[in-house]
Amino acid sequence: MPLGIPTLIGLPYDASSSFLRGPAEAPPLIREAFRSPAFNAWSEAGIEIVEGRSYVDAGDVELPQTDEARELVERAIAAIVARNDRPLSLGGDHSLTYPILRAVGPAYPNLTIVQFDAHSDLYDAFEGDRYSHATPFARILEEKLASRLVQIGIRALTPHQREQATRFGVDIIDMRAWARGVRPQVTGPVYVSIDVDGIDPGFAPGVSHREPGGLSVRDVLGVIQSLPGPIVGADVVEVNPSQDESGLTPIVGAKLVRELISRMIETG
Ligand code: MN
Ligand code: MN
Repeated sequence: MPLGIPTLIGLPYDASSSFLRGPAEAPPLIREAFRSPAFNAWSEAGIEIVEGRSYVDAGDVELPQTDEARELVERAIAAIVARNDRPLSLGGDHSLTYPILRAVGPAYPNLTIVQFDAHSDLYDAFEGDRYSHATPFARILEEKLASRLVQIGIRALTPHQREQATRFGVDIIDMRAWARGVRPQVTGPVYVSIDVDGIDPGFAPGVSHREPGGLSVRDVLGVIQSLPGPIVGADVVEVNPSQDESGLTPIVGAKLVRELISRMIETG
């Protein structure tokens, strides 16, 4: 069965952020930038991105800022996956990727996750919280919700997270390797998780944990545009409007959304 339409869904939740709140305010701002008449509707590959034809918008999920949000997110994403459609989630903090993958992972054997992030988010628990935005990929790999995790842009590993990466067999392309020219080799169905702090704060300053020395927007677009696919889902998380004096970061988010939809369509 061919894959269905990319489906935007806003997940306004940031209560699992360890340092600053703010990402819950991001979905309407990313949408506003995505729909702004400042930009035309064409992707770089020449695909016109039109609501109703190239994607649909499921709106925002109403979420309490409590643990119950996880189940609501899983249920909302599962409804999209059950239609064979492809969720493109707007966060929200990165803790959301765990309940998203609870819905997406079981539907796609041999799933690879490609994660862009300054941080590996592999803590077993962070400040006592197993569901923090610093832990989602530990939960995902424990529950075998993906066969492979490739992380790109990493530049803040701790010894504990190095151990976790070894334990789970994570492929880490850290910034030093990226700078040497190492690039991901990915085959089969892929889920793309973009923590916008993987991008250098010079390009995307509106994040909770600014980590200098990161990826350019062009670097991320280059990986997305070269994924063989199919891309079965994606998320753009950790945009924090409270840290974004220039208002540039939701525009970066919107550009990523446009190119993700384009590549989802191109790779069927
Ligand atoms: Mn991060
Ligand atoms: Mn993250």
